[in-house]
Amino acid sequence: MEGSEKKENSNENKKEKPFFDYARRSLDICAVCKNKYNVGDRIPRILVNCGHTFCTNCLLKYHHGKNHIRCPSCKKLVKHLDNVETLPLNLSIFGEIVKNDPVIIMFIDPSSEASFASSCPNHPEKQRHYYCSYHENNFCRECMKAFHKGDKCCVVDLCDIQKLFQLNEQNLIKNELIVKTRNKAKGKMRKEEFFIANQ
Ligand SMILES: [Zn+2]
Ligand SMILES: [Zn+2]
Ligand SMILES: [Zn+2]
Ligand SMILES: [Zn+2]
Repeated sequence: MEGSEKKENSNENKKEKPFFDYARRSLDICAVCKNKYNVGDRIPRILVNCGHTFCTNCLLKYHHGKNHIRCPSCKKLVKHLDNVETLPLNLSIFGEIVKNDPVIIMFIDPSSEASFASSCPNHPEKQRHYYCSYHENNFCRECMKAFHKGDKCCVVDLCDIQKLFQLNEQNLIKNELIVKTRNKAKGKMRKEEFFIANQ
């Protein structure tokens, strides 16, 4: 039976391909709605008492009509929460979302033709400062008023997005330095000390 012959070359498949670890671990997806996070209505936010992250859209649904929110994962309660938007962003997930979205990258890069600093095709005297996560486009304030008032529209200021992204990039560099320094220190320790230091 030739057809039943198994592939013996499975070693080939075992070779680790350079894979984007972040997406592999599904950290780019909200565990409740199973949608990818974005920089608008599904911006990732952290529930401060347990550290679990969900998209803003889902958090709004859980929070609706209450002044508290229960984590859909571990059921921990965040009391006295008037507004979901006051929950902190998960900056590292946010950073990955931006980094992996060539359109957003283009919009926040002042040197690109379609950036937030470029002028609006409909209103040449205005800059395309705003981004709608539903229409996935950038536009000026006038366009926002005229075309992005719908329920599905979620408009953000691209300058804010750029600032947050840069903040995360700086944090990454800082963390890398801390890890490097720590590893250097670890190298000097004896093995037992290493384990204690890692508790
Ligand atoms: Zn969600
Ligand atoms: Zn939780
Ligand atoms: Zn415009
Ligand atoms: Zn829109």
